[in-house]
Amino acid sequence: MSDKIEGVKKLFTSKSARVETNRGESYYNNLFERCQARLDELRAQEPVNRLDFSELLSEHGTDRRDFMKWVSATTAMLMLPPMFAPLVAEAAELMNRAPVIWLELQDCAGNSEALLRSDGPKIDEIVLDIISLEFHETLMAPSGHQAEKQLDGAMGHFNGKYLLFVEGSIPVGAGKEWCTIGASGENFLDHLTRVAEGAAAVVAVGSCATYGGIPAAAPNPTGAVGVMDVIKGKPVINIPACPANPANMVGVVLHYVLTGQVPELDSLLRPKFAFGYRIHDNCERRAHFDAGEYVESWGDEGAKNNFCLYKMGCKGPMTFNNCSIVRYNEGVNWPIGVGRGCIGCSEPDFWDKYAYERPMADAKLKAPTGGVEKSVDEFGLGLLTAAGIGIGIHAAASAIAGKKEDGGEA
Ligand code: SF4
Ligand code: SF4
Repeated sequence: MSDKIEGVKKLFTSKSARVETNRGESYYNNLFERCQARLDELRAQEPVNRLDFSELLSEHGTDRRDFMKWVSATTAMLMLPPMFAPLVAEAAELMNRAPVIWLELQDCAGNSEALLRSDGPKIDEIVLDIISLEFHETLMAPSGHQAEKQLDGAMGHFNGKYLLFVEGSIPVGAGKEWCTIGASGENFLDHLTRVAEGAAAVVAVGSCATYGGIPAAAPNPTGAVGVMDVIKGKPVINIPACPANPANMVGVVLHYVLTGQVPELDSLLRPKFAFGYRIHDNCERRAHFDAGEYVESWGDEGAKNNFCLYKMGCKGPMTFNNCSIVRYNEGVNWPIGVGRGCIGCSEPDFWDKYAYERPMADAKLKAPTGGVEKSVDEFGLGLLTAAGIGIGIHAAASAIAGKKEDGGEA
């Protein structure tokens, strides 16, 4: 037991090796010059979407000052130093040079909904408005043969240049014919493979497209998998969560427009700028966790005082995402903010492994497979399989004490 607690202590006090936030002056000077050259090149190109960014901002009542505030926050979110802010502003204006094709596969359209939120849109959504969305079968007016013609036209015209956004999982079980599309009855796997071929990069949006999500929950009747399981030899970027946060979608496209490259990814292909930290690292209830103050049952005094939700099953300590910082619904709030623990929706197999109201220490689950990062694996091996050990050194003591009081095994 003491070895395990020492291991937890070491993990929680060691300097994170996952996210490199300062790469040195010469790296950033070099990158700055490359970004400038890239933006000059893009500015010389004809926009593929005629919408004007400044006009859109003023239509939505957003002034330059608000925009520059957003630029500073986005520059920081992308882990770039402040000197990049003018380039980030320029890249936002040049997003209309980025053709996007969006496929919906086995999904609930929740990510499209998140993308489309139009009630008092934040600048993130306005920026997404000017992306040239060349094909999105749920949103566009044409259907049937006309839609197929539009897709073929966009693929031909922007061959090698478009970003392919994919929402939903791919059924590959039992002949792969669980879902088909179009007059020819093309199955989803063939459809995705064909459209991905001419893409500059493929962006899997939401938990279904990244790891199979809810369709892949046991017993996974359709053999659902994520994009990275079937698309090889092409850059794949995963933006998991249920739904993916539009701020992270903007971040990925903006990074691509700015640098011409995909952002730095972790071993699950998630951009480190968004998924480099745990929910728990930046949670507003963290002080209560550290003090051993927990909600013990729904509606109790702890709940009224916004105590930590770990004992109610919060999986924030093992979930990598930035929603504790970026939040949802125009940045107004997020699940833990309204009193509901994190269910780990940005982690593989979240529905089977995390989405229940019991703390992980009681669950006797195995560590996540697939190796998120070494430290996450250590985290999993050190914590998730260690039934009886709470999360973190402080929680370990209080959780064990709490269980003993309850007469449970420690
Ligand atoms: S366990 Fe959950 S509620 Fe508690 S501090 Fe961590 S992330 Fe926040
Ligand atoms: S708090 Fe957790 S479950 Fe909720 S959206 Fe964020 S990662 Fe997903």
